[in-house]
Order: sequence, then structure tokens, then C-alpha cells
Amino acid sequence: MITCISPIDGTTLVEREPLTSEDAAKAAARARDAQPGWAARPLDERVSLVRAATQIVGTMNDEIVPELARQMGRPVRFGGEFGGFAQRADHMSDIAAEALADIEVEDSGEFHRLIKRVPHGVVLVVAPWNYPYMTAINTIAPALIAGNTVVLKHASQTPLVGERLAKAFHKAGVPEDVFQNVFLDHATTSELIGGGAFDFVNFTGSVEGGRAIERAAAGTFTGLGLELGGKDPGYVMEDADLDAAVDTLIDGAMFNSGQCCCGIERIYVVESLFDAFVEKAVKIVEGYKLGDPLDPDTTMGPMAQPRFADMIRAQTVEAVAAGAKTLIDPALFPKDGGAYLMPQILVDVDHSMRVMREESFGPVVGIMKVADDAEAIALMNDSEYGLTASLWTQDEARAMSIADRIETGTVYMNRADYLDPALCWTGCKNTGRGGGLSVIGYQNLTRPKSYHFKKA
Ligand code: NAP
Repeated sequence: MITCISPIDGTTLVEREPLTSEDAAKAAARARDAQPGWAARPLDERVSLVRAATQIVGTMNDEIVPELARQMGRPVRFGGEFGGFAQRADHMSDIAAEALADIEVEDSGEFHRLIKRVPHGVVLVVAPWNYPYMTAINTIAPALIAGNTVVLKHASQTPLVGERLAKAFHKAGVPEDVFQNVFLDHATTSELIGGGAFDFVNFTGSVEGGRAIERAAAGTFTGLGLELGGKDPGYVMEDADLDAAVDTLIDGAMFNSGQCCCGIERIYVVESLFDAFVEKAVKIVEGYKLGDPLDPDTTMGPMAQPRFADMIRAQTVEAVAAGAKTLIDPALFPKDGGAYLMPQILVDVDHSMRVMREESFGPVVGIMKVADDAEAIALMNDSEYGLTASLWTQDEARAMSIADRIETGTVYMNRADYLDPALCWTGCKNTGRGGGLSVIGYQNLTRPKSYHFKKA
């Protein structure tokens, strides 16, 4: 059984039977059969259907918000994901014609030479629970628009999300075999990938999960997009707007109980601002209200699973044993326990500690003093991950020079924890391979096909 245990109270919220191996293969085969017909429809029609489905998801938002709180613990006061979901789907709709346009090389009396972008065929989307609508739509919308059919395997923590998306796309008029939501266990997912059932797989999740997908695909030449973990740093320079830096970086570390792929996990502050930064950061965190995500006053809900909270408790205990200092008083967070994890700020940390090296994916952040840009760059790069980095300065040229030396997918100046659909969402090192959204997202969900016609 695929089971969603609510982090609110540990009760079983949803149970779904995963597809058998045979039924899963049939679903993939239906997606393959449906693909040529879907790709033959005019681009405008595919774009309109995706836009319509997006709007239908919006009409469900009042039901989706408490449903998300029950499935993965995000407080209802934040209103769900529809803003970012629609922004991404609409942007990919807006740029489709240009991104997928033929590249005309020559159309003369003698030759017609051009490159078309053609769909891969069947795309498997494996999505995580932490932003279950936004992460899924990053691939679903452009994959469908580009003429692929899509099979969605959503996370076991958020099974209702895949069902809602299927309902919305089908209601909008997307045929059932063109967009399918399936419940798959890991073994069946690997079996399908290994059997060449898909032409492209986009996986968003843990490094271990990414490795399993890569192993399953080995030798099949299936295209892969792997959007994996992160340990994203912030660096605050002496000319930074301190209030903005603290507000954004601490929100980036703590929002969604720190369960953001591009959440801030470590902060480096130049010596002259260090004390003031830490003082302000502590004040912000002390104001959070940890509790039932269905209560509109709650600003921090439980983590999605008790084991995630326990892992961070272990990282924190280890760091303290190695000399780190915790700055947030547990007495302020009486609800702490089980999946409910109080936020924590650590100082006197260094890179020998797991909390500064391994992904925490929770409401804990270490803050370290740095002497200069060289030290900050070395520390930011001292990581097996590379998703985003956030630089705080008024000096764009300095930020650009530092940005060029950081091993990462995205560099921000004076912002953080934000996904811009016009830019490529990508990473390096163990954060994975590929790129979603933007024009590049379309390139990855299609293949180039060259036409070389001699007219006489
Ligand atoms: P996870 O365990 O890897 O799960 C993510 C998704 O992958 C779920 O649908 C899961 O299915 C599926 N999955 C995992 N292993 C699989 C396998 N061997 N075969 C088939 N499917 C498999 O990740 P998580 O811990 O829930 O999610 C948090 C992680 O995702 C963090 O590391 C975070 O940084 C990363 N993330 C990255 C991005 C990005 O853009 N780079 C965005 C969001 C999250 P089940 O639920 O059924 O196990």
C-alpha cells in the first residue's frame, strides 16, 4: 500500500494500491499510443488546454490548502501554491511558440535546411511532496505543451496532489492517456525505466532517489533530468542591507519548516555585521509559532515525517557536542516533539559538523563569521551540492565576480529561495543534472531533428 500518514497527528490519511507491474506497463503503453495524436494537435491547442487545466487547479484552491496541510504539514495561512504554480505554467505557455520554433538555416532555391524540436515521446515525472504542485508543474506543463504524453508518479506523502492534477487536466480536455497519474512503488518504477517505457524521466527528490533512477536507466539511453538535494549558502557582505538580508535569509531557512530544495542551510556573515545579523535573526525566529498547520495563527507546521525531524535533532546534538551553540530557547516552542520540530539557529559552527555539510532540509541554520570574499567563496564551494547561493551586497560588479566563482546552479543577489520560471532551474555536483523551466526546459523536453532538403 502507498500510505500517507498525516504529520499533524500520525493518523493514516490516504491509502492507495500501487499498480501491478502489468498494469503499470499497460499505462505506459497507453501513454505511448496516445502520443503521436497529441503531438499532431496544433501547439496553440495544447497551450490552451494546459492554461485551462491551470485555471481549474486554481478553482480547487480552497480545498487544496487544508488538504496540503493534512498531507505534508504546511500551515494554511500561507494559502497553498497556486500563485507560483500558475506563474510557472503560464510562463511556459507564454514562451512556447518561441522556444519550440523551428530554427531556419536556409530556404533558398537550392536548399531548405532547418532544425525542428520534436517531443521525446513519453515523459515520466517523479515529484516530491515538499512543494508538490509547483515542482510537478515545472515539467508537466512544458512536457505536454511540447507534445509529449506524461505519466506522473507523485510522492507517497502527497498522493492527493496527483489525483487533483489528473482531475484538472482531464476536466480541461486533456485526454486521459495523455496525462496519467499513477501510483507506483520504487521497484515497478525502476522496472519500467529499465525496460525503456519512457523517453525522458524528470526526477525531483533526494540524491539517493536520483542515483536509483540513474541506475534504473543505465544502458537504455533514456534522457534524465535530476533535480536533487542542496545545502544552499547565503553570504552577507559589509555593504549589505542588513534588515533585508536577515529577513530573507531567515525566511529562506525556515519557511515550510525548512523543507525547500533551495532553502538556506548555512549563512556566512562578514565580521563587522555578524553580531547584528545574529541578534536580528534570533528575534525573527523567536516570533514563529510552531503548531497545528490547520490553525491560521500557526507559522511553522510539523515536518512531513517524524524521521526528518529526528535526523535534524541528531545533527544539532552532534554539532553542540562538537562545540556549536544553540541560540533559540526550547521553552519558546512547547509543541516540539515527534514531527513538530522547533526552529534553531547555531553559531560557533564549522565545516567539520554534519549540520554544515549534509542537507538538513529542516528549520535549522548555522551562521559563521567570515573575513573576506575569498574565505566565503571557499566555504560556499566546500559542499557536495550546488543548487543556489544568495549574495548580499550593493555592489553588482562584486557580486558578479563572486557569482562566477561559485559552483552552483543559480546565484541570487539580494534575494533567495525563489524560482524564476524565465531562468533555468538547474544544479551541479550532487544536486543533479539537466535543467527545467525557461527556454532550456523546452530544449530538454524535446530533441533536435535536422531537415536537409535539396530542392533540385
Ligand atoms: P525522495 O525520497 O527522493 O522522494 C521524492 C520522489 O521520488 C517521491 O515521489 C518518491 O516516491 C520518489 N522516489 C524516491 N526514490 C525512488 C525510487 N528509487 N524509485 C522511484 N521513485 C522514487 O525525496 P524526499 O526526501 O521525499 O524529498 C526531499 C528531497 O527532494 C530533498 O533532498 C530536496 O532537496 C529534494 N528536492 C529537490 C528539488 C530541486 O529542485 N533540486 C526540489 C524539491 C525537492 P515515494 O514518495 O513513493 O517514495
